[in-house]
Amino acid sequence: MHIIVHNAKCHGHARCWSQAPEIFKLDEDGYILPGNIDVAAGNEFCASRGARSCPERALEIIRSSDTAPVMA
Ligand code: SF4
Repeated sequence: MHIIVHNAKCHGHARCWSQAPEIFKLDEDGYILPGNIDVAAGNEFCASRGARSCPERALEIIRSSDTAPVMA
């Protein structure tokens, strides 16, 4: 699972961090750091909860199955 970080949408609410501080890193002003996030399998629940808590929809969840090639 990956999380695409849309920095331009972040308003610094820190809700993501409050759900999963080990996954969502913020700068000193409370805005999420740039760079997409690779989530280890064991952290998917917390990461998903944190991403869904963002009121600005700045965190886009990409599940592995979303990117799997389609077999014809
Ligand atoms: S919850 Fe959303 S708006 Fe708030 S810091 Fe995290 S990414 Fe930014």
